[in-house]
Amino acid sequence: MSSVLDQLCDSANVFFNRGLAFGSTGNLSVRIGGSVWITPTGQPLRGLTPDRLAEITLDGTPLNANRPSKEYPFHTGLYRARAEAQAIVHLHSTYSVALSCLENPEMAAMTPYFFMRVAPLGIVPYHRPGSHALADAIAAAARDHACLLLRNHGLVTSGATWNEAVDRAEELEETARLHFLLRGGQIRELTSADLAELAAAFKP
Ligand code: ZN
Repeated sequence: MSSVLDQLCDSANVFFNRGLAFGSTGNLSVRIGGSVWITPTGQPLRGLTPDRLAEITLDGTPLNANRPSKEYPFHTGLYRARAEAQAIVHLHSTYSVALSCLENPEMAAMTPYFFMRVAPLGIVPYHRPGSHALADAIAAAARDHACLLLRNHGLVTSGATWNEAVDRAEELEETARLHFLLRGGQIRELTSADLAELAAAFKP
């Protein structure tokens, strides 16, 4: 079985190859004990290997020679705020960014999968990328939400496992894509009875 650092690097390549991360955008991390392993600054996710990940403490103190993503303050802030979070995915994937730029980023209850993996989606006000204001806003929203949309920026998802964080990010991006595909169409939304049945089946 591959280590979680290998899983993170595999996903980094998949995100890049599928166009969900491009240039040097996107940053990913996992928490292992008191350490956070995070993608390095200024490098594309393509071809990433575990030896290039930066290791930092929850306070941001470096534990190895690799320089962390400039957005590391919101990763450490989120881990401090949300005890169950062990993995974080942050992408500037196109449809989530497009949704984040709409004046009203609310989406209809379209699929069970959005309900099971993403809802309720937290909306984080715009702050400069890399700023402490953004880190504080993300940490505050993460207490109640595993999935966040950063206004005019992109998505952040967390999970108790690496795969859970990835599944949530992919579901959010694909639902945002559906949102734009269906714009102007008459959507058959899930009914309150549909949602109640899903809640009984999937949410403790
Ligand atoms: Zn970003």
